[in-house]
Amino acid sequence: MTDTDVIIVGAGPAGLTLATELRLVGVKPLVLDRLTEIREVAKAGGIGGQILNLLRYRELRDLLDDAAGAPVTAKLPFGGIHVDLTELGESPMQVQRLPQPQLEALLQNHVRGLGVEVRRGHEVTGLQQDDDAVHLEVQGPDGAYRVSAQYVVGCDGVRSRVRELAGVAFPGITYPEIHRLATVSMPPEITVRDDGDYDIPGYGRLAWGYSQTPG
Ligand SMILES: Cc1cc2nc3c(=O)[nH]c(=O)nc-3n(C[C@H](O)[C@H](O)[C@H](O)COP(=O)(O)OP(=O)(O)OC[C@H]3O[C@@H](n4cnc5c(N)ncnc54)[C@H](O)[C@@H]3O)c2cc1C
Repeated sequence: MTDTDVIIVGAGPAGLTLATELRLVGVKPLVLDRLTEIREVAKAGGIGGQILNLLRYRELRDLLDDAAGAPVTAKLPFGGIHVDLTELGESPMQVQRLPQPQLEALLQNHVRGLGVEVRRGHEVTGLQQDDDAVHLEVQGPDGAYRVSAQYVVGCDGVRSRVRELAGVAFPGITYPEIHRLATVSMPPEITVRDDGDYDIPGYGRLAWGYSQTPG
């Protein structure tokens, strides 16, 4: 006998979306996330492409439209190449600007509304599997505890602890580059043109998208 059928480790976009899917087929998962609050730093600035159509099937599209406005046709930066699909009558590249913290808050409210328990401040530290169940060791706000399920799903991100604990290898490579993300506000002297490019006094035109400058 287990405590629950499915435990999802990680309340990021993957974990919360999976919780929605499971709930729709009658499974009530337990979601655990080590962060007490949703991280404020925006990783993704929005979502785009075919995922928007897929979300429509899950009645999430209305929620997203309410929060972010209707999707718009976008210019797509692909590495250094600009792919401009705005001339197409029906562009497949629609995007919706919704910073990831807002998306996660929206999905979290949604799954909680569906009756899913999302426990925050609960970090998975250990995992054992036997013939009957998967057992997790969890460090929660009130101390350590154990919880068991028929299935545990690791949705715990890029350096997945669940993957390590389950002995699943990471045969790929990681990039040596370091990417930095900043949210900036621009002084009024900088003009944003209709095509998205910037006019910067003393510098000139800076193209929208990826730019490499001497500095
Ligand atoms: C700078 C940057 C910009 C990006 N821009 C975009 C974009 O514009 N559009 C886009 O679609 N994607 C973008 N992405 C990618 C997107 O952010 C990721 O694909 C997405 O966050 C992956 O979701 P996830 O749920 O798999 O993992 P995560 O978002 O990493 O969530 C994992 C969760 O697991 C929790 N967790 C980890 N370990 C444990 C543990 N041991 N116990 C309990 N909980 C744990 C973490 O606290 C976290 O909440 C960007 C990423 C970065 C870094």
